[in-house]
Amino acid sequence: MSPAHHPALEASPRFRAFTPRDLDGLLRRVFLSADERLALRAVSSVLPFRTNSYVVDELIDWSAVPDDPIFRLTFPQAGMLPEPDLKQMADLLSQEASKAEVLRTAHEIRMRLNPHPSGQLDANVPVHEGERLEGLQHKYPETVLVFPRQGQTCHAYCTYCFRWPQFVGESELRIATDDIATTSAYLRAHPEVTSTLITGGDPLVMSTEVLSRYVDPLLEIDTIRSIRIGTKSLAFWPYRFTTDRDADDLLRLFEKVVASGRHLALMAHFTHPQELRPPVVREAMRRVRSTGAVIRCQGPLVAGINDSAEAWAELWDETTTLGAVPYYQFVERDTGPQGYFGVPLARGHQIFRDAYARVSGLARTVRGPVMSAMPGKVCVDGVAEVAGEKVFVLHLIQARDPSLVDRPFFAAYDETATWFTDLKPAFGASEFLPGLGYLEHRTR
Ligand SMILES: *Cc1c(COP(=O)(O)O)cnc(C)c1O
Ligand code: SF4
Repeated sequence: MSPAHHPALEASPRFRAFTPRDLDGLLRRVFLSADERLALRAVSSVLPFRTNSYVVDELIDWSAVPDDPIFRLTFPQAGMLPEPDLKQMADLLSQEASKAEVLRTAHEIRMRLNPHPSGQLDANVPVHEGERLEGLQHKYPETVLVFPRQGQTCHAYCTYCFRWPQFVGESELRIATDDIATTSAYLRAHPEVTSTLITGGDPLVMSTEVLSRYVDPLLEIDTIRSIRIGTKSLAFWPYRFTTDRDADDLLRLFEKVVASGRHLALMAHFTHPQELRPPVVREAMRRVRSTGAVIRCQGPLVAGINDSAEAWAELWDETTTLGAVPYYQFVERDTGPQGYFGVPLARGHQIFRDAYARVSGLARTVRGPVMSAMPGKVCVDGVAEVAGEKVFVLHLIQARDPSLVDRPFFAAYDETATWFTDLKPAFGASEFLPGLGYLEHRTR
C-alpha cells in the first residue's frame, strides 16, 4: 500500500496528500527560475517529499515563500543536497535519463547521507527468547519504543526528518501486526520497563481501530505506568482530533488509558509557532486535554526554519498558554540534510538560552539543546571557562548506562561542532567520564 493511499487518511474528506508528482503544480504559486525548479525536483528524487492540503492552504504563508518557515518545513530546498550530488541529479533529470538510472543514482546519493546514524537499527533492538524484536527499541532501562507497522508514514514529511530513509524505501524498520503478542510478552518479562512510547512515522496516521490493537494490550500489563504517543498530527493534520471519521473514537481511547490509572502523554512535535495559529489546532489541543491526556511538546532546532530565540520563546509561551508542556529542544541529527539544517552547538545553546530567559517559569520545563546520541540524551548546558580552557558543559539526561545520568562533563569548545561525535573531551582527557569515552566517529 502506498503511503499516499493510507486508509486512515482517506477516511477524512478534506485530506489530500501531495507527492513529488504534484511538486511542479504546487510551485506554480511561486516565482522560480527553470533552474530552481529543476533543483527542487532533483532534491525530491533523493529525499522524501510529501505535504497535504491543510499544510498548503492553512499553514504556509505563500506571500512569504520561499522564506516561510512552514514552506521550508515541507518543501525541498536546493541546499539540502551537497552541490555535486545536486548537479549530478539535475543533469540526469534534464537529460531525461531512464527511471532506472535516476533510481540508482538516488540510492548512491542516499548511501552517502549517513542513513542509519548512531546504530539506531542494530544497537537498540531487544531480543526475546532468542528472537530479535524488529520494530521495538529498548535503549533506556525504563522505556521501550514501539514502531507499529501501519504507523510508519506521516501526514506530511519534514524536510529535516531523521527517519527519512524509511520514507524512500531504504530502511526495513517494520513490526508485524502479529508481533503485538510478542511485544506484550517482552514487556511482561521486563518489569523494569514502566513507559512505552508508540512512535513512527506518526502512529496517528493509523485508524483508531488499528491504534487500539497496540494500546489495549498495554493496559493489561500492570508494570506499564505511562504510555506516550509520538505525533506530528496536531501540526500537520489537527482534524485527526476534531472532524475525522474516528476522531471521537480516538478521544475515547485516550480516556480509556487515563481511566486505567496510567499517564498518557501525547508527545507533540512542533517546529514553529506558526503551526499553532489556526483555530483548529487550538480546538484539537482542547479536545485532547479534555480526555486527561497531557500534551508535551518537542522539536528540533533547524537552520532557516526556527533558528531564532524569538521563534522558540513564542513556541514555548504559546504551547504553555494552550495547556501543553514544553519538553525537549533537539539538535538536528547527523543524517540526511544535516549539513543544511544543522546549527552549531555553540549557536544552538545561545538560541536556547536567549529563548529560555524570556519565558515564564511555567515554560522552563523544556530541556535542551539535546542530542539523542549513541550513549544517550546529551544536553548542552552551556559554555564556560574552567582552569583557563574554554569548554562545553554537558550532561546526560538519559543514558544506556544509568550510572552516567546527570553527571556534568566537559568537552573542548569548538565553535563549529554540530554533533556529539564532533566533540573531544576537554583538558586532553581520553574520556568524558569514566565509562563515557570518545565513542562515536563520524561516518562522513
Ligand atoms: C528520547 C528518547 C526516549 C525518551 O526519553 P525520555 O527522557 O524518557 O523522554 C526513549 N528512547 C529513545 C531512543 C529516545 O531517543
Ligand atoms: S513528523 Fe517526525 S517522522 Fe514524520 S517526517 Fe516529521 S520528523 Fe520525520
